[in-house]
Amino acid sequence: MKILVINCGSSSLKYQVFNMEAENVLAKGIAERIGINNSFLKHEIKDGEKVIIEEELKDHQQAIELILQTLVSSKHGVLNDITEINAVGHRVAHGGHKFSSSVIITEEVKEDIRELFIVAPLHNPPNLQGIEAMEKLLPDVPQVAVFDTAFHQTMPKYAYLYGLPYECYEKYKIRKYGFHGTSHKYVAQRAGELLGQSWDQLKIISCHLGNGASITAIKDGKSLENTMGFTPLEGLIMGTRSGDIDPAIVSFLMIKENMNIKEIESLLNKKSGVLGISGISSDFRDLEEASKKGNERARLAIDMFVHDVKLHIGAYTAILEGLDVLIFTAGLGENGIEVRKNICINMEALGITIDETKNYVRCKEVEISKNGAKVKVLVIPTNEELMIARDTKNLVVARQLT
Ligand code: ADP
Repeated sequence: MKILVINCGSSSLKYQVFNMEAENVLAKGIAERIGINNSFLKHEIKDGEKVIIEEELKDHQQAIELILQTLVSSKHGVLNDITEINAVGHRVAHGGHKFSSSVIITEEVKEDIRELFIVAPLHNPPNLQGIEAMEKLLPDVPQVAVFDTAFHQTMPKYAYLYGLPYECYEKYKIRKYGFHGTSHKYVAQRAGELLGQSWDQLKIISCHLGNGASITAIKDGKSLENTMGFTPLEGLIMGTRSGDIDPAIVSFLMIKENMNIKEIESLLNKKSGVLGISGISSDFRDLEEASKKGNERARLAIDMFVHDVKLHIGAYTAILEGLDVLIFTAGLGENGIEVRKNICINMEALGITIDETKNYVRCKEVEISKNGAKVKVLVIPTNEELMIARDTKNLVVARQLT
């Protein structure tokens, strides 16, 4: 069975083609600058050959057309015919309260995704565009939606409710949803495999640290807490997002700076975080370089991030009633040697101590805790695409059986 996985952003579209027999990737790539000028497709096939195809891509449908053409092209293709694609799996950011697992896409599912535009304005609209474009181009192929929120639907009500009037929840379903669920679930399951233990018998904290960052507490194979909330703005200080702030700051700033809703949203989502603090960059590589050269605000931004992660590891250890495994994943979690070291320093009280030599690693599955340490600290590269492909396969096979 061959599965195409699609992750549609506002101006980019990532894809991977899986052969599910061996669970290997036949081809992958990204279409960038969709709807902007100078758009292009970066396409890579199994043995590592890479090509860049420059072509005007005015919308997601044109991007998908080019991807499908490339997948069957004589030069860079990996399929003889497009009919070899058995199913398409889509990453969808927000599934609201309706989806606690992946689903085959129907008109009703699309309507539900559309209803959530208001709470995920940056993510759900392009996700749906990708689905609709794919439906037009491959009308007979089943499509599956895999939600970033689904894994967190096991959070208890006392954890996911905000201290607002209960009517806000009843009327608008305002509650914490949590995000990056596919990634957190993948690394937690993988941790179990690597340690030779069943993941649903471990107390796990997984730290997905990328541009967007979130931490999850997992027990009995279930998410109990995630730092993100009603939207992906809550929680840790991130690349450009503020994370947690006192909500009173919003109205204060709107009055003092005469800002409208769009401006305040842009400030919180795009101009805050470590970018806003440092005034330099949202990328930790730039911050570390600047900090080494003595830039105090770059140092401060890193320190704030590290402090925030430590804070949540402590809190989540409390609600898990102990900790067996701490996982680092995503761009910064997988590559950020300094950041991992600083997060884990002086955490002996929680049973966390890492070996600096073992920690000197990037993008590899490896245990970095000291021999004999109470908590196993692991670096695990995430693989959301494989999870999406697996869910897609399982749903399509189950449907064939009924
Ligand atoms: P997202 O998918 O949320 O856009 P990623 O998971 O790709 O983000 O993570 C991107 C971030 O990872 C970068 O902004 C950067 O801060 C961090 N990163 C990547 N490589 C390194 C590195 N070698 N050292 C430190 N940080 C890194």
